[in-house]
Amino acid sequence: MSGIVIIGGGITGTAAAEALSREGHAVTLIDKQGIAAMASGRTLGGVRQSGRHPAELPLAKAAVARWAGLSDALGADVGYRRGGNLRLARTPAEVDVIRALVTSQQAQGLDLAFLPDNDAVRAVAPALSPHVLAASLCPTDGHADPRKATRAFADAARRQGADIREGVAATAIHVANDRVVAVATTAGTIPAERVIVAAGVDTPALLAPLGLHLPLSIRIVSVVQTEPLAPALAQVFGVANADCAGRQEIDGRLRFTDGGAPLRTWSDTPSHDAVRDVIALVSHVLPIAGRVSVSRTWTGLVDQTPDGLPVIDTPGTVAGLVVAAGFSGHGFCLGPISGLLCADLALGRTPRHDLAAFRLARFALGAAGATTPGLHG
Ligand SMILES: Cc1cc2nc3c(=O)[nH]c(=O)nc-3n(C[C@H](O)[C@H](O)[C@H](O)COP(=O)(O)OP(=O)(O)OC[C@H]3O[C@@H](n4cnc5c(N)ncnc54)[C@H](O)[C@@H]3O)c2cc1C
Repeated sequence: MSGIVIIGGGITGTAAAEALSREGHAVTLIDKQGIAAMASGRTLGGVRQSGRHPAELPLAKAAVARWAGLSDALGADVGYRRGGNLRLARTPAEVDVIRALVTSQQAQGLDLAFLPDNDAVRAVAPALSPHVLAASLCPTDGHADPRKATRAFADAARRQGADIREGVAATAIHVANDRVVAVATTAGTIPAERVIVAAGVDTPALLAPLGLHLPLSIRIVSVVQTEPLAPALAQVFGVANADCAGRQEIDGRLRFTDGGAPLRTWSDTPSHDAVRDVIALVSHVLPIAGRVSVSRTWTGLVDQTPDGLPVIDTPGTVAGLVVAAGFSGHGFCLGPISGLLCADLALGRTPRHDLAAFRLARFALGAAGATTPGLHG
């Protein structure tokens, strides 16, 4: 009997597998590398509502509500901490950006405070530098452990009967009479009534043979992780122009990133120059980042759509197909809700949130706006 095949074992695909298997559906999830091999295992791990596009804010709020109980629900620690999120201003122009952000997001009902000067910022985050002129503070934002969270979804799905196959790549989605019927893989063909494509940066290549166009530009982000420090920073921080972000992990390590650059050549580790540059950017606002030894560096890829919003949709031309990709550098937080939305769509239910802004056809129609800086901030 055929069931639901999910392509991609990041947080989107594993959360969908968990949701569908919990409802008793036959689920096969394949990942060409392994669980959390790509963005979901390389991310900063920020879980934030602040700085979201209005269309995404309801999803982010619902996700944050779900993160709070996720360790209990999945039976495994996902490393979630609700320490807040600070968006920092380093110049007078950035102060204006942050002030406007606070005003608009307060109007959308988000609990977001404007910290108008350095004293106010350092009253909540003493480790930040005098270069920070102002900030927004969202106290209900936080962070989680990317690998633990993604693995927890996959393990829960497996316990609920999902077949999770790592090291298996989808090579084609077979369609007959405008319906998905199977997924061809490097380990044979899997019959499928429904197919969820949650393959991150590789999603366009899987959709193109079906006549579906997902215009992604790929950005490469450098990530630095330090040796552990004594507790110094509860909040995740970003900056007004999103050129860096960071947080302190539960074990005391700092994890911080740059804002990414267009992908030219893929390398698993960032260049020496990229590491030097991100340390300089981050230590300007968080001086301890320049005084602690680096333990590990890596890169991650961002699946950037033209308008910075994801696609979460059932394209009308291929029945049984669900697409969830293009999270544009802020899909980790959304994972717990993206998974539920994929389940709704795969089962033909009315989705629990309005997904009008996330249709694939907006690109074909040329309706998408300008790129929104998206990476974790
Ligand atoms: C450095 C960095 C920092 C970030 N910071 C944040 C943050 O602070 N907060 C936040 O919310 N988001 C953040 N993001 C974004 C977030 O990590 C991603 O949006 C999210 O993890 C995407 O999850 P996904 O499951 O959709 O895709 P992915 O995690 O990329 O998973 C896709 C999976 O599909 C698999 N796959 C691809 N092709 C195939 C195929 N043909 N067959 C089988 N499997 C296939 C891949 O191996 C991969 O495991 C960041 C991203 C990066 C790179």
